[in-house]
Amino acid sequence: MKRELSKNYKPFIDEELIGELCEIREDSGAIKAAISKSMEKHPLSLEETAALLSAKKTEFKEEIFNAARELKKNIYGNRIVLFAPLYIGNYCINECKYCAFRRSLRTTVRKTLSENELVQQIEALEDNGHKRLILVFGEHPDYTPEFIAGTVRKVYSIKKNRGSIRRVNINAAPLDIEGYKTVKAAGIGTYQIFQETYHRKTYAEYHPPHTHKGDYDFRLDGLSRAYEGGCDDVGLGALFGLYDWKFDTLGLVSHARFLEKAYGCGPHTLSFPRIRPAHGVQLKPEYIVKDEDFKHLVAVLRLSTPYTGMILTARETPEIRREVLEFGVSQIDAGTRIELAGYTRKEKGQELKKEQFSIGDMRPLDEVMLELLSTGYIPSFCTSCYRKGRTGQQFMEFAIPGFIQNLCTPNALLTLQEYLCDYASPKTKEAGEKAIQAELAKFADVAQREKITRMLDGIKNQDKRDLHL
Ligand code: SAM
Ligand code: SF4
Repeated sequence: MKRELSKNYKPFIDEELIGELCEIREDSGAIKAAISKSMEKHPLSLEETAALLSAKKTEFKEEIFNAARELKKNIYGNRIVLFAPLYIGNYCINECKYCAFRRSLRTTVRKTLSENELVQQIEALEDNGHKRLILVFGEHPDYTPEFIAGTVRKVYSIKKNRGSIRRVNINAAPLDIEGYKTVKAAGIGTYQIFQETYHRKTYAEYHPPHTHKGDYDFRLDGLSRAYEGGCDDVGLGALFGLYDWKFDTLGLVSHARFLEKAYGCGPHTLSFPRIRPAHGVQLKPEYIVKDEDFKHLVAVLRLSTPYTGMILTARETPEIRREVLEFGVSQIDAGTRIELAGYTRKEKGQELKKEQFSIGDMRPLDEVMLELLSTGYIPSFCTSCYRKGRTGQQFMEFAIPGFIQNLCTPNALLTLQEYLCDYASPKTKEAGEKAIQAELAKFADVAQREKITRMLDGIKNQDKRDLHL
């Protein structure tokens, strides 16, 4: 079936050029030039990104890592935004070879959350202190835009004690323009679609052409249609391990540059999941991305797309997350369960027949919070930008002059304070209170510091909630 593409569609991935750029030799001059451009907070071209990817010598890689750390600090400060994924349904009509939800895998336990189960999951997430979710769906005729929109509305309506979910993002199949309008009207945050691999031939190997997802162009165009349907807050991603990691890093950067040009605004986030073992999946080791290369690609993505949020998920182990966090990651999930209805399950560990893949980090949210606080980060549950209309082009306008720090750091402190009052363990509470004081002491603007101190006091002593700038 021929499906309708966006008005701007062209296959904007130049495979020949990207293939050549993957092979270029390490060149210290080009590496240094690319680093200095990104330190000025300018997005990098494909050629400049490729120069950074070509780095082999330890000294050059260290320069790239240091620059990524520095740039992250300058733009995002030390805050890390926290969220949780919630799987709504794992019925699927596709045949992605790496995924335990693929249609033909009969041993996978299938489920779509009932309304009652949805309430229980949201209440459990709220009881942990979560404010931001990403809802995840297989691709199935039941999971229509209306169904997704209805689920989003329901999620926003569930309030347990002081809990509330204030931002709901989506990871689901690409929609048509009308579909995006429908989900946008329900108040979604980001619509995420991962291209998986930008290499067309490999894409066809993993996604049989007769399936819905087998249509490479319809998927590549998915986020362009999102813009045209009014969703200006979109997330790109590639599943690393299907093909050459350099190729897919350049694919992501090509996609970002295309959206910036065509829609005046780049993606809100980039995701770079590495493939994980999964029920019923035999992995081909050829393109598995080594830890060293993973760090390298994360740092390069940070430098090439300075104003785009970067998401590191619980697919990775705590050790890798700790290391990679500093190279430019701005969001992580925590307290993650990916089994359908997993947030109310008492047993530890995963039950892979009910899950999409195995994850590397199952620590509870409070433990991750404590670790972040103890290592100099400010965990944030902020949802302010999109609720104040600072999305898309607007968001870029705020980001570019450096307003992010003036808004994001205060909002991070306010949401952290809520968490400390309502959900934290004594240890996390102590570490959090100290971190808030240390952050306040850094405010150069005295009037701003006093204002935020008053707001924090409102949360602690006057029972105020959801204060944000
Ligand atoms: N069904 C929708 C789709 O495919 O676009 C929603 C996304 S799926 C539920 C979320 C993402 O998980 C996929 O886009 C893919 O990148 C990733 N994924 C699937 N199998 C994986 C595996 N074995 N290891 C790591 N990530 C995987
Ligand atoms: Fe279905 Fe998505 Fe899994 Fe593919 S990755 S089989 S589309 S759930």
